[in-house]
Amino acid sequence: MSAAPAYQTRSARRAMLIEPGRLELCAYAPPRPGPGELLLQVRCALSCGTDLKAWRRGHPLWKLPMPFGHEFSGVVIEAGSGVSAFKAGDEVMAAPTAPCGECFYCARGDENLCPDAVGRMLHGAYADLIVIPAHIVARNTFIKPRDLPFEEAALLEPLSCVVHAQAMAAPAAHETAMVIGAGAFGLLHMIVLRAAGVRQIVVAGRGDARLRWAADLGADRVIDVRAQDAASEIARLNGGFGPDLVIECTGQVDGWSDAFARVRRGGRVVFFGGCAPGTALSVDTRRMHYDNLTLLAPFHYRPRDVQAAYAMLSRRDLGAGRIINARRSLADLARVFEMLEQGTVLKCAVIP
Ligand SMILES: [Zn+2]
Ligand SMILES: [Zn+2]
Repeated sequence: MSAAPAYQTRSARRAMLIEPGRLELCAYAPPRPGPGELLLQVRCALSCGTDLKAWRRGHPLWKLPMPFGHEFSGVVIEAGSGVSAFKAGDEVMAAPTAPCGECFYCARGDENLCPDAVGRMLHGAYADLIVIPAHIVARNTFIKPRDLPFEEAALLEPLSCVVHAQAMAAPAAHETAMVIGAGAFGLLHMIVLRAAGVRQIVVAGRGDARLRWAADLGADRVIDVRAQDAASEIARLNGGFGPDLVIECTGQVDGWSDAFARVRRGGRVVFFGGCAPGTALSVDTRRMHYDNLTLLAPFHYRPRDVQAAYAMLSRRDLGAGRIINARRSLADLARVFEMLEQGTVLKCAVIP
């Protein structure tokens, strides 16, 4: 009989979201990985705006209590039967979902809409250990380059969402792009626009700390949306025509309305931040038609976006790790969410 794996001899912990605002660190004895699965020692999990929303008010698709956290990287402790691409000791990074590859949407290349992609999302990354299910191991798990820090590797999922959105937006080098919302996603968009060579990148947001971070991370211009003349300042961009591309990252209907109102004639709007259920956007049909607007609402990501995000992170020239501006231990997780709520941190690395 083989010796028991090392992880069974120590007490592992896993954070559970019991109800909105209430997190508990529980003892966790994971099962041996089944066929196609990986048991991973988590080395870093990142805080995410989606988790913050769920922590505040629950989530329409998630049933509480639930294991929590979905952006992660780590080291393989044990591979289940049939896994040939990974073995114990490998450093890996993964997206927390994967499509089935066979349904109506997958057949059309719209894998982001596959029921499996969102319906079978992996949670439980705020933990010492996590089991990656077979469908994710098969399609959206990658070897982490040795020189890529674990915390930057854990950006794979949010970066995949950004890559998918920008694939739809197709920013061009000569354009002026404006990002609304200076949170982690807004600034990740800014960094990817920069990597795409976009000429002028403007970040419009609120909160002194966030606007300062946007400037520090390389925004060409930062506009405080609370300022009296914010609208006219935006209208003066691009030689007085307004931004060519607006990417909305606040997930608030006001932000969506602003994005629609501020883009130049003939421009594109990307509604990236999902709003609360039951909200609606009213658009001026005259403006939409006679100003020839293109409205895009990308959701989630496809395997090709994850692959592109993985390639970007592996090249090490993006500097996306700069948006992680705090580090806390797993035992401090409750405090992490308080800091996120107060806006004193952009994205926090949670280290077991
Ligand atoms: Zn996330
Ligand atoms: Zn599918």
